[in-house]
Amino acid sequence: MKVSVIIPAAGLGTRMSTAPAGKTAKPKKSAPSKQFTELGGTPILVHTLRRFAQSPEIDEIVVALRQTEIAPFRARLEKEAPEILAKRTVLLEGGESRQQSVSNGLAAVSASAHDDDIVLVHDAVRPFVTEEMIHEVIAAASKYGAAIAGVPAVDTVKQVERTAEGALIRATIPRERIVMAQTPQGFRFNVLKKAFDEATADGFVGTDEASLVERSGHPVAVVMGSPRNIKITTPADLELAEYYSRTESK
Ligand code: C5P
Repeated sequence: MKVSVIIPAAGLGTRMSTAPAGKTAKPKKSAPSKQFTELGGTPILVHTLRRFAQSPEIDEIVVALRQTEIAPFRARLEKEAPEILAKRTVLLEGGESRQQSVSNGLAAVSASAHDDDIVLVHDAVRPFVTEEMIHEVIAAASKYGAAIAGVPAVDTVKQVERTAEGALIRATIPRERIVMAQTPQGFRFNVLKKAFDEATADGFVGTDEASLVERSGHPVAVVMGSPRNIKITTPADLELAEYYSRTESK
């Protein structure tokens, strides 16, 4: 059994450069995409890739980037993080959406339907994934065919209708029935391939890979993620990430 991980990192990350509420400053055009924002002098993406490079269970890392970023990023890895390139590491061009970027990665993995190979997908901007979480997702994906990391909801979740005036609550979703989906999300190669083929045929676009697999009719298991496994999306997330990063390195 081989395990590949696809890291979609071709987004623009516009939410990261948005001015905080109340400020009128325009987003800077030159702001780096969120995966290249630095944490302790190193791009978030490099922190994330290190976690997978360090895991003995990962055989191959496929990173989807914007075309113009491929060559400079490879040069940076050669200089600053050669251990990441020591695995079979493929840098390729992403697509218009996260789903298209993952689809490009899926076309490039050496995993196949034989030998029950596993494909993980992990957000470029979740650098606090742990070796244990990677292990748990691989184990559950092997057992059930599809599994994701998730955490219980702590907030009460409301379903709303957007109106010109703002949002109006239509329903309260019982909290005990809610899980906040994280990544890694792991699948047997054939399960993920079938889900992507069906989504493409139907023009369905989801915000994570599990949603594609769910609609293809395959059950998806949830293993315990971590509140620390944050997706660095806004400037507030970056402040929290800097704190985690400092406390981890002590
Ligand atoms: O913007 P969003 O939070 O949906 O992005 C999730 C992940 O998908 C990020 O790691 C981002 O870089 C990636 N992405 C991508 N290709 C796109 C859009 C987003 O790889 N076209």
